[in-house]
Amino acid sequence: LFRMYGPINQLSGLQIQVLTVLVSFDRIFEVLDLKPLVDEKPDAHELVFIGKGVDAGAGGLDVEFDHVSFRYPTAEEVSLASLEPIALREKDRGDSAWILKELSFTAPAGKLTALVGPSGAGKTTITQLVPRLYEATSGTVRVGGHDVRDVTLQSLSDTVGVVSQETHMFHDTIRANLLYARPEAIEEELIDACKAALIWDSISALPNGLDTVVGERGHRLSGGEKQRIALVRLLLKSPPVVVLDEATAHLDSESEASIQRALKDALAGRTSLVIAHRLSTIREADQILVVQAGRICERGTHEELLAHGGQYASLYHTQFAEEVTEIDIQRSA
Ligand code: ADP
Ligand code: MG
Repeated sequence: LFRMYGPINQLSGLQIQVLTVLVSFDRIFEVLDLKPLVDEKPDAHELVFIGKGVDAGAGGLDVEFDHVSFRYPTAEEVSLASLEPIALREKDRGDSAWILKELSFTAPAGKLTALVGPSGAGKTTITQLVPRLYEATSGTVRVGGHDVRDVTLQSLSDTVGVVSQETHMFHDTIRANLLYARPEAIEEELIDACKAALIWDSISALPNGLDTVVGERGHRLSGGEKQRIALVRLLLKSPPVVVLDEATAHLDSESEASIQRALKDALAGRTSLVIAHRLSTIREADQILVVQAGRICERGTHEELLAHGGQYASLYHTQFAEEVTEIDIQRSA
């Protein structure tokens, strides 16, 4: 099963949504065959990074957005597949559909870059362009200096790890659900990764351990367990670049704190581009990008941006006021 996931994983965001609604893999492939949104060039090269095994991704690679503009393809464009470049038909549309507008930034190798901004600003869209779930309408997205359109889909998928709020679990064993992240992982690596993600105790307590079948008709995993599974997959894959949509759902505070710590360890030394919903993450970021209406309106560290007294400062006071109060209460308790 994990072998089948590879190609699906590399395809477009639309197709990944398809994955969530269809149950049969045959049907998915039927749909996928109809709508290839992203193509591999015949002369695509491997995006290589040094290293092997669990520390392969340590060090990270630069992620660069160079004057990137983006609009979602229309239903018509999707059904026309990639016969005609989307950019050619831009003149037929108004300006309202632009989601990202001339966006430029660098997420430096090994550093944590936090994306913040109001809902609908374009943060998720930005993160989807890195693994090439969608493609920039104009401008260039580079990973490790390579235009993502010039590298093989497999090597890009090996390089960029995606942790979204939705953790997809196949109706299969936990082992199979973990192994698709790195098919060649040996038992010991699986167990070590489960331990690091603090889920080994729960898995080993199940009657069939790693061979327990999960999903719709199998053993139901809790929200917190699914987050940990996502973390195990990340650890197994050990990509130099991680794009992460930080969870908004709050777990009980104990598991919350432990997952945060495990995740922080997993991200250390990698290039991380995080849609940050937590003040703790934002404060630790090497760089904060404030996204508003498809543009970056401010950038800097937490202290710099607070002192600046602009958009970030007001976001901080509205969006994070509650969290600050919680922290204050905990401190004074
Ligand atoms: P954020 O993550 O900052 O909340 P998003 O990147 O999710 O913002 O969305 C930015 C804009 O793109 C929104 O106006 C949203 O409605 C639109 N959008 C998001 N996904 C799609 C899609 N698949 N097709 C068309 N428009 C979309
Ligand atoms: Mg979003």
